[in-house]
Amino acid sequence: MNSIFKTPIEFLVGIGPARADLLNKELEIFDFGDLLQYYPFRYEDRTKFYKIKEINVHMPFIQVKGHLRHYELVGHARKKRLHAWLMDETGEIELVWFQGAQWILKKLSLGANYIVFGKPSIFNKKLNITHPEIELLTQASEKNRHFQPVYSTTDKLKTRFLDSKAISKLEKTLLATVNTHIEETLPDSLINKYSLISKRDALINIHFPKSHKHLQKAQYRLKFEELFYVQLRLLKLKLTRLEKFKGKVLNKTELLTKFYDKHLPFVLTDAQKRVIREIYTDMKSGKQMNRLIQGDVGSGKTIVSFICMLIAIDNGSQVALMAPTEILADQHFKSLSVFAKQLGLSIAVLKGSTKKSARKKIHEGLITGEINILVGTHALIEDKVQFKDLALAVIDEQHRFGVAQRAKLWKKSTTTLPHILVMTATPIPRTLAMTLYGDLDVSVIDELPAGRKSIQTFHNYDSHRLKVFGFMKKQIEAGRQIYIVYPLIEESEKLDLKHLTDGYAAIVNAFPKYQVSILHGRMKPADKEFEMRRFIDKETQIMVATTVIEVGVDVSNATVIVIENAERFGLSQLHQLRGRVGRGADQSYCILMSNYKLTKESKKRIKTMVDTTDGFEIAEADLKLRGPGDLMGTQQSGVLDLLIADLSKDQAILELARNAAIDLLKNDPDLNHSENLAIRHQVDKVRKNALNWSRIS
Ligand code: ADP
Ligand code: MG
Repeated sequence: MNSIFKTPIEFLVGIGPARADLLNKELEIFDFGDLLQYYPFRYEDRTKFYKIKEINVHMPFIQVKGHLRHYELVGHARKKRLHAWLMDETGEIELVWFQGAQWILKKLSLGANYIVFGKPSIFNKKLNITHPEIELLTQASEKNRHFQPVYSTTDKLKTRFLDSKAISKLEKTLLATVNTHIEETLPDSLINKYSLISKRDALINIHFPKSHKHLQKAQYRLKFEELFYVQLRLLKLKLTRLEKFKGKVLNKTELLTKFYDKHLPFVLTDAQKRVIREIYTDMKSGKQMNRLIQGDVGSGKTIVSFICMLIAIDNGSQVALMAPTEILADQHFKSLSVFAKQLGLSIAVLKGSTKKSARKKIHEGLITGEINILVGTHALIEDKVQFKDLALAVIDEQHRFGVAQRAKLWKKSTTTLPHILVMTATPIPRTLAMTLYGDLDVSVIDELPAGRKSIQTFHNYDSHRLKVFGFMKKQIEAGRQIYIVYPLIEESEKLDLKHLTDGYAAIVNAFPKYQVSILHGRMKPADKEFEMRRFIDKETQIMVATTVIEVGVDVSNATVIVIENAERFGLSQLHQLRGRVGRGADQSYCILMSNYKLTKESKKRIKTMVDTTDGFEIAEADLKLRGPGDLMGTQQSGVLDLLIADLSKDQAILELARNAAIDLLKNDPDLNHSENLAIRHQVDKVRKNALNWSRIS
């Protein structure tokens, strides 16, 4: 688009400096282009007339026409309200105005015909419409029916008369001004192939649709374009990365074979084998790997990453595994140490709480290359930590790490960039993954190890607590262990701690024969470690905890997780928590406790949990319930600032747009062909504000 769209908004007829200032501050509308892309969030259908008999209270805004049979002013002075009765051949409906009665009154004349638009409601068991819009029915007004756009505005704007109607008027003026300047931003080939309407028609109809069909076509076109450019940008970045960034060639596999033959503790699932092959292909390619492993809780990601580490070590390099919490780092360290010992490898763990002297030794061991494997928390990415030759960095549960922290990993290697493997158990719906990680390669472990019994999930109201206690007793008697989890909400940390300690006291009381551990974020690391250790060593039977146990903790003898106030947790968090059980061969259970007062959403969340254990299904449900903006780890990425497309609904368009982008780059990777110049222009434009997050993982 050319420069007229960069015209400051104050120069549009009807705006001026004061209103421009408001639009800047309240809606971030600065220039003509911004206003043009300020799309309505819904539309009112003013093309259809309902019969009065058809109206019911569940309808949204509706439109009727009829003649005014009677009206009267009721009440005194300022509290005056106006009642009017509109009639058509099927019935009669009451209209009520509590405000501006006098002003409306002036517009009304008995027996005349009117068009009325509003939301039906019920008062004294009778249908009425409160504060409807009313307009004289004339031949012209009846013919000139359309879809009325509704724009979101703010209270501040409304008090300065910039309500939806006013914005709509500005859009009309704007479109008249810039109409002839709107250029096509997609090539003919795409427009033809996907039957898209032109950019100009789309922009006109997104603000002022001539019909429902026009609106749909406009939305389709604009969504397609938006998603197409997001995908194109991501795919191009990926191409660039593959072209530019070299990775160390890691191809020796003797160590791996030795491990396979002698020490592998179980048979790998087919999914694990496939993912290892995918990673190996990357590692020996000479290009820097940036791969995400998605695998549901318990799918066995750790062993996959370990096997890949062996390839790197076999080639004389070092590897690092970074975990989001100390508990998790310790756990990884412990389980990998077993294998390391068998293979004669040197492994160390580095955490925030690591003592200075030990830390110094680790720093030295890394520089000399003596240490093969470093496990740790984010302490591992501090600048002081330097490797002799880091070739592979594995990041577990990546959503806990900021992008900037990940970038630091890149600097750990002086020669080539380390290969990066990111592991996550937060299932990301396909649509979101395509957008968020469009420039990453993704491997999915979509199979659980054999013999796992699916976790049974129940919902109980608080009043059934005794029954739940009875069930817990039976499980403990059978030798099992139990988690009880309390929610934690930051604003009321004190209160939450009280809930937790009260809960702990109640449990100690109810289970006098057994030992109970307690774990929460405010405890000192050493105390946490101590409590966790007691539970792992089966000295305690019950672990009362906050969500600190959410990520990765692996105690296969724990078969029951009771989640208190389950209504206060999000879906993906509930799923993560549930993943703490079901890790051994015994049947496991998840019990969701709640009070009777549940919102519609929390009911849906609980039902989803009871109905399915499939992480991807849960992620889809989560996306639908919350919308993409809230999903963990996605907030800072910026790719979700979509103007019109909605990732929870526009899956089909996204796939088409992505395929279109893939096809295009296949034929013209640098966008040099003349018919693609418009595209390149557009890509370069978007690129300015969306670069830095996407280079690293
Ligand atoms: P996650 O993918 O959640 O990180 P882990 O790597 O912690 O899962 O694995 C969960 C448990 O399953 C561990 O105890 C691990 O040893 C075990 N495991 C992994 N792969 C297999 C397999 N193929 N067969 C049996 N057990 C496995
Ligand atoms: Mg894990």
